[in-house]
Amino acid sequence: MRIAVINDQRGTSRIHAAECRDVAREAKRFHDDPWMIDADNRHDVNMAVWGDVASDNNESGTPEWHEECDASADYASLFLPCCDSLT
Ligand SMILES: [Zn+2]
Repeated sequence: MRIAVINDQRGTSRIHAAECRDVAREAKRFHDDPWMIDADNRHDVNMAVWGDVASDNNESGTPEWHEECDASADYASLFLPCCDSLT
């Protein structure tokens, strides 16, 4: 599905469905342009959002890198109810 990512001032990535009404509202509130990505599951989102950060510690594509993408997301990504269908 098409996903919109908005970063708030605390460094949290707020994950919305692209068509969610809150995207425009939160973009204004957090002064951030929504970043659109295509994802089949949450891990796809986590790789897109946290892959660069994870690459600082682990080589991209390794099992450790994949784990770190998800670990970073547990800490600092918030999946909003509009993307509940994403598993
Ligand atoms: Zn939403």
